[in-house]
Amino acid sequence: CGVFGVIGTSDAANFVALGLHALQHRGQEAGGIVSYDAEAGFQQARRFGYVRDNFTSHKVMETLPGDLSIGHVRYSTAGNKGQTAIRDVQPFYGDFSLGGAAIAHNGNITNALALRKELVERGSIFQSSSDSECIIHLMARSMGRTIPDRMEEALRKVEGAFSVVAMTRTKLIGVRDPLGVRPLVLGKVGDGYALSSETCALDIIGAEFVREIEPGEMVVITKDGVASHYPFRPAKSRFCIFEHVYFSRPDSILGGRSVYETRENIGRELAKENPVEADLVCPVPDSGTPAAIGYSLESGIPYAMGIIRNQYMGRTFIEPTEQIRNMGVRLKLNVNRALIKGKRVILVDDSVVRGTTSRKIKEMILDAGAAEVHFRIASPPTAWPCFYGVDTPQREKLLAATMSEDEMRDHLGVDSLKFISLDGLYRAVGQANGRDPKSPQYCDACFSGDYPVKPSDQINQGFEL
Ligand code: 5GP
Ligand code: SF4
Ligand code: MG
Repeated sequence: CGVFGVIGTSDAANFVALGLHALQHRGQEAGGIVSYDAEAGFQQARRFGYVRDNFTSHKVMETLPGDLSIGHVRYSTAGNKGQTAIRDVQPFYGDFSLGGAAIAHNGNITNALALRKELVERGSIFQSSSDSECIIHLMARSMGRTIPDRMEEALRKVEGAFSVVAMTRTKLIGVRDPLGVRPLVLGKVGDGYALSSETCALDIIGAEFVREIEPGEMVVITKDGVASHYPFRPAKSRFCIFEHVYFSRPDSILGGRSVYETRENIGRELAKENPVEADLVCPVPDSGTPAAIGYSLESGIPYAMGIIRNQYMGRTFIEPTEQIRNMGVRLKLNVNRALIKGKRVILVDDSVVRGTTSRKIKEMILDAGAAEVHFRIASPPTAWPCFYGVDTPQREKLLAATMSEDEMRDHLGVDSLKFISLDGLYRAVGQANGRDPKSPQYCDACFSGDYPVKPSDQINQGFEL
């Protein structure tokens, strides 16, 4: 998901709409915006579909006045997957005795089921199926004297990954979980401030990137400035390494590094680790593009757009059902036949999850008359599900959970299949000595099975580590 908030500029909701539009790659199912204006009070709008189709019309935007606003773009990783109800669409709003507050959450709460059960037993009435709603109920039960105090208390009970953007009548609040699994950045816009999942959304509103919110940090922003708190027990940060590989936009800056350059580095590492003789390096667009460029630069094999993407389709994996996903590949990608015929082709993609995409693409490439197909993957085999906010299927459905690399190669029917090593990936994100096995610098659980936060709900439901 993507979160965005603005304080201290007139028509803040318009900025939020633009920010969410730039974060659309983080969630395409639905979006919501809440604003506050002294006269109109809190106003809310939630819609299914793209930001550009919902939050551009004057009719909607004029219902969201004020100089304080937050918003959220959703893709479902918890709760009712695939059948989002409008009541699952964030931001969530709560009317507390201290005044109203709204929150937008990116990440996944790993003890949400346990918390929910406890809260329901004590009388909370949940409106949605979302894990994030727990935060509102925990805040409602808290005896804290201010809304930020209540939020701190609530979030200390929450486990897992959370980057939260929240608002009261006068404050914009941003919090990252102690490990800082999901991103969150601070920007300056005119006399006001913005909070965003990624820097690319600051650019669109002309905001200046100030800094990242630190893992475990809570910022409370008023018109007078930014105050920082550290409500949690300090921990070593474990940022999601997959944000670098796939999830974030290539024009964003993460941890002081350009995502694009990181992806190009990944391609270079991949070429060093897994060279092969071929005529062309082609990306599976768009997610494989920067890594393919890196592979080509490092190997000296020409880069070519052997697969053309229809720009009017979204991201395949964000389509929630398998059926649509299966269709999706052909609706979205087509082989550039003239280029491929008779050629030995290296295909670079960011990841193999179920293997559906790779299989379809291989068929299309061979149909077009390629002489050989070599897959090079910009992440290690995805053998474990993510419980921190990226939608991976159950373990059984992950190709790498049940097959060795050679078995996957045969299953996909390609001439060769190689993944970047975990150390190679760490080198590409700037860790010259690779992964520190005693104290890994990133979360890489979907590749290593080393979960930095115990996924307790999942374990209670029978998941085995
Ligand atoms: P597959 O077809 O192997 O299930 O999905 C792989 C494709 O989905 C890749 O091209 C990649 O761009 C995209 N993808 C990336 N990350 C994820 C993820 O976390 N989960 C899923 N299901 N697909 C992803
Ligand atoms: Fe990111 Fe993978 Fe960790 Fe999920 S499990 S937070 S996708 S590195
Ligand atoms: Mg892809």
